[in-house]
Amino acid sequence: MITAKARAVDGPGKSFRKAEIKRRSLDTHDVLIEIKYAGICHSDIHTAHGEWGAVNYPLVPGHEIAGIVTEIGSEVTKFKVGDRAGVGCMVDSCGECENCRKGEEQYCLKGNVPTYAGVDKYGEPTQGGYSTHIVVTENFVVGIPDSIELDAAAPLLCAGITTYSPLNHWEAGPGKKVAIIGMGGLGHMAVKIAHAMGAEVTVLSQSLKKKEDGLKFGADHYYATSDPKTFETLAGTFDLIINTVSAKINLDAYFSLLTLDGTMVNVGAPGEPLSLNVMSLIGHRRSFAGSMIGGIRQTQEMLEFCAEHQIVPQIEVISADQIDEAYERVLASDVKYRFVIDISTM
Ligand code: NAP
Ligand code: ZN
Repeated sequence: MITAKARAVDGPGKSFRKAEIKRRSLDTHDVLIEIKYAGICHSDIHTAHGEWGAVNYPLVPGHEIAGIVTEIGSEVTKFKVGDRAGVGCMVDSCGECENCRKGEEQYCLKGNVPTYAGVDKYGEPTQGGYSTHIVVTENFVVGIPDSIELDAAAPLLCAGITTYSPLNHWEAGPGKKVAIIGMGGLGHMAVKIAHAMGAEVTVLSQSLKKKEDGLKFGADHYYATSDPKTFETLAGTFDLIINTVSAKINLDAYFSLLTLDGTMVNVGAPGEPLSLNVMSLIGHRRSFAGSMIGGIRQTQEMLEFCAEHQIVPQIEVISADQIDEAYERVLASDVKYRFVIDISTM
């Protein structure tokens, strides 16, 4: 057993507190990672607040993990001590079902093992990256390219892959008009990645407050959704819309912005159901889809893509004592554009 320092929360509305958690002793295919940085994803907040259902507290969130391999199991082949390593939203899956065999472990038919708020194959609750160490089976660890600093690499493990995967699947690229709803952690990565893929990118944000940043990230156009004229001007424009909003929005208004055969992909995951008028889809043979993170192979591919295109998230590094404050700011859409915890302050 390895003892790790962590920050845990005991229930919805509770503040984070110092905690010690146990990490299992290394199995033959396990690697021990000394965590250097952990990003704060809005999913951490949904989970910590119990918005996605019952949680076994105390909970240590964190699924944007970047660190260094400090020990390896006897049969590990993918990593050696000293390697720069990342862990995202899942730490295991059955490995045998149709979806796992395709490299889509996030859609494992038996359910993937989430990095936190899950139960691993040993029957132990999983705890995430707001901690000094984590033990993960090597197939769920990715290598971080040398050109990406570890603090900036962390958010790629969730915000990066969650936007790269649908942009890749629905073929964002030259000649495609892509809109991103919400420019927070996921949204700003979606802008950078869609731009690098060659698409014409539009940001649909609540206001124009972050317009200058959006254009710098690679957006070609930037509109405020609080202005009703936006919906008139952009009617029937987009081949693909990625909705990254963490709250309920009026989907029908946004469907009207899709072309014939256009698709809206929801990656935002509010706790409450979203409703839609089917006429919004029927009228122009539009599609409404969802997408969850990405497989391990694709996560590695996304990291190489980001290294090649020099894409990194814009981050604000905070200390472990600032997690509560960071949560408040994310909830107020006051994040530019991802908080990352410096684990040395744990
Ligand atoms: P975030 O940093 O808080 O960004 C969300 C953005 O949505 C905000 O910055 C804001 O952008 C916009 N927004 C927030 N409240 C709004 C409202 N009431 N109406 C309209 N727009 C609003 O969150 P995130 O970390 O990017 O995560 C976004 C969502 O994706 C969360 O629900 C999270 O759980 C989910 N998620 C899903 C996956 C997946 O696999 N599908 C993975 C990770 C996260 P503007 O200020 O630009 O309007
Ligand atoms: Zn996440």
